[in-house]
Amino acid sequence: MIFRGIHASMSHWEGSSYAVSAYPLQMVVPRIIATESDIYLDNDFRITFLGTSCATLLPFPYTSACLIEVGETKIMVDAGIGALRQLRRAGVDPDMLDAVLMTHWHLDHFAGLQGLIHARTGAPLPVLGPEPGRPTHLLLRAMCPAALRNLHTVAPGEPTRIRDIRMEPVDTVHRIASVGWKLDEAAHNRRLVISGDTRPSETVIEAARGADLLVHEATYLQHHSSRAVKRHHSTAAEAAALALESEVGGLVLTHTSSRYTMKRILTEAVAVFPGTLVVSPLTAISIGRLLDESKKIGHGWAQLTVQPAFAA
Ligand SMILES: [Zn+2]
Repeated sequence: MIFRGIHASMSHWEGSSYAVSAYPLQMVVPRIIATESDIYLDNDFRITFLGTSCATLLPFPYTSACLIEVGETKIMVDAGIGALRQLRRAGVDPDMLDAVLMTHWHLDHFAGLQGLIHARTGAPLPVLGPEPGRPTHLLLRAMCPAALRNLHTVAPGEPTRIRDIRMEPVDTVHRIASVGWKLDEAAHNRRLVISGDTRPSETVIEAARGADLLVHEATYLQHHSSRAVKRHHSTAAEAAALALESEVGGLVLTHTSSRYTMKRILTEAVAVFPGTLVVSPLTAISIGRLLDESKKIGHGWAQLTVQPAFAA
């Protein structure tokens, strides 16, 4: 585990190294099987969380959005409340974006899309996502017609590619048409899977199998599991169980609710899958690559560099 952080301290868990930071980052990354000399430490595959809240206003007013950077390629996944502001705080101009991938058309995932599109001065911003339902279609036509003009509807199992990244929509289980995204960086065999909003899903398990990092929603804790079922979301424990079954390298929980502290969310998940992180907006995680592929033993092989949220 390579960790850059002001509050980091190293400890041990079942013979493996892991890092624990002070609140508010809250992270545990176990199962280190490679030493620093085995890892090529570049920053060329990175996810920056721009918004991490579900549809609540506090403490973070930023809802689902993240930035994926693979070399020169920059892709946003979802564009929730504050997406443009957060993108700029992360040092990226909207004109630098190659595309926005939508998981579904709920407002907490697309409220920031209009601002993003309008801030561009160059070519139109391609938007890839499932077909919006009729009410959303009418809303977009009135409020953000450019999103509809630039929309390329996608279907699970039909991948597309931007330069060095392959992007495949994954079937998910939500109240409306929805997908997750499986993002593969072919050059060095790295995989990132983003669930979007969903109940625990077999298709996500399959997509995430052996992935370096799974970003999964955790809107509820287990004692509210009946609400999770009713509203087509997941609990932290369910997401962690899914990560365990998929044998991913690490799990990030997002789309979390301010009704729970980050510590409670983390505690529930870590009991099931120790390699879990709960992140704040503007936290970035780089997925390193192993110089020696023989070091890749089962799950938990990913080398994750966590850069805690910065103040801006
Ligand atoms: Zn939703």
